[in-house]
Amino acid sequence: MKLVTEGIDALPGVIVEEGARSYTVRLRVPAGVITPGQIKKVADLAQEFGTDMLHLTTRQTIEIPHVTEENVAPLQIALEENGTPIGAEHETVVNITACPGNERCRLANVDSLSLAMDVDKKYFGRDMPVKTRIGISACPNACVSERLCEVGVTGLLKPVRHPEKCTGCGTCVEYCKEDALEVVNGVIILNNDRCIRCGSCVHTCPYDVITAGEPWYQITFGGKRGRHPKLGHHIITVSGVETASKVIDILMYRIYRHAVSGLLLGDQLDDAYLSIILSEIEKKIPPENIVSEW
Ligand code: SF4
Ligand code: SF4
Ligand code: SF4
Repeated sequence: MKLVTEGIDALPGVIVEEGARSYTVRLRVPAGVITPGQIKKVADLAQEFGTDMLHLTTRQTIEIPHVTEENVAPLQIALEENGTPIGAEHETVVNITACPGNERCRLANVDSLSLAMDVDKKYFGRDMPVKTRIGISACPNACVSERLCEVGVTGLLKPVRHPEKCTGCGTCVEYCKEDALEVVNGVIILNNDRCIRCGSCVHTCPYDVITAGEPWYQITFGGKRGRHPKLGHHIITVSGVETASKVIDILMYRIYRHAVSGLLLGDQLDDAYLSIILSEIEKKIPPENIVSEW
């Protein structure tokens, strides 16, 4: 933990406010998960050290605005004791975002929260050449806009058909928002080019004609928000959460080693940068974990 005694500038989660007379203190709240007890204490601390205000950010964290310089140090200690330490901003790995995933959402294909917690433990707050956002959604509905992050993970599910059991009722066709399913001569047909592997049809067939294949992790790199937003490049789709973690490790290392300060990652990615990443992935990720068929 960096201490306020190293200077307020050493704490990347402490943001100088307009006029520089006070600070906004941003918390570390991985995936936006916080206990009721912790949030009550954060509210009390805001009243004690800030003003009567909290701010919920777009990256699932909480800010305590209007903290005076002399209050930053006692607030830092109290936040540590509460398990909600000061977070990160600027050129670091900032709060990891994740959707509720299969802990709560019936559309989820993967456990986004557990992966987010693991990634947070490894990478949160690390100094990087560029601000690094990691977002994880458990299905292509992309509730945390992960493709606008430097590193994005989306959970997919391949539908596996057992057409011999199909009644041709058409229920799944109604549910597929991509028009990828069609009943032809009483049997369900899948149009692979249209299917985005959202997995919705798996949950809708009343006769279990469409079952769940193995969950996949689609990983994107170099997305950005701001004035000129960009979707991240699709780097790879893999099976298995351990493989997904390994790909994230490669991407984080390549940001650390290769990115330059002063530009967002999405503005410095070129073919040479991408080819370094792709060749490293080819060397380190077992081919059997790479999703090549669609
Ligand atoms: S991204 Fe998908 S799984 Fe996650 S909350 Fe949204 S709908 Fe549910
Ligand atoms: S996985 Fe999604 S896109 Fe593909 S067929 Fe099923 S509902 Fe349609
Ligand atoms: S819902 Fe099931 S039974 Fe009905 S058309 Fe789709 S796959 Fe066939």
